[in-house]
Amino acid sequence: MINIRSSIENTIDKTFLTFDSYNVLLDKNNNNEKVYLLNYNNNSVSIKKILELIKILLNKKINFDIISLSLTYYLVLVYDKDDIIMKISIYNMRIREFLDNVTEMYFDCNLLFRDYNNKNLFNLKYNYKLDELNNRIMNKKFCYLLDNMSYFDKFIEYEITHMDGLTNYDIINMMLYAKTKIEDGWIMDEYFKRDESWTLNYWVNYINFINIIKFREIEIYNHNCAYCNNLFNNNDIVFNKSGIFVHYECIYSRLYN
Ligand SMILES: [Zn+2]
Repeated sequence: MINIRSSIENTIDKTFLTFDSYNVLLDKNNNNEKVYLLNYNNNSVSIKKILELIKILLNKKINFDIISLSLTYYLVLVYDKDDIIMKISIYNMRIREFLDNVTEMYFDCNLLFRDYNNKNLFNLKYNYKLDELNNRIMNKKFCYLLDNMSYFDKFIEYEITHMDGLTNYDIINMMLYAKTKIEDGWIMDEYFKRDESWTLNYWVNYINFINIIKFREIEIYNHNCAYCNNLFNNNDIVFNKSGIFVHYECIYSRLYN
């Protein structure tokens, strides 16, 4: 079974990479999930053609279920009889669009990809080195890359609703992603955007590692949530932007309503 699976994976992987695609190394993915960014400039191939080719190359017992959620995103489920053995996400967009529109790509831990020859990183907008990023991933550190959350402390303090074109849904998505990472033992820091940044961490990690998270020496004076005013417990998941700390749950319920 494992052999069948890995040979299927191999065939799928080789076929995509032959067509000038990138295998995006999203950190959250399990072994049976793969993400490909199809090189948009290569007009001569379509996603459907690539999948047809894979089908020909693979054992006939394997079935695909192609779910096209939009013109730019396909989800392909690979079945062995009734079991889903692989999920393949395929993005059909330019790199720039991909970086601008896919939530996971707002975080530095997801910038790695494989092409046919190398492992490398999407560096179109960000000035990272491969070693630097590998190091951060190895140490389970990650950060937010954009500066479109600059009004968020004002939103919290004064309940301003306008936020640089971000919808509440966008913000919830970003926070949900960050939450899954910190629950997996990661630390979110202000590595790339420094003071412009926002982070989500367990309260105990802010207490113990605030200087590491913020890359400067500061003291936390206020141990109460800016929304509900309750004292933070060590295991509370807490959002921070500038000097403001708020429960994740408190922001979530406010954004959701
Ligand atoms: Zn609160």
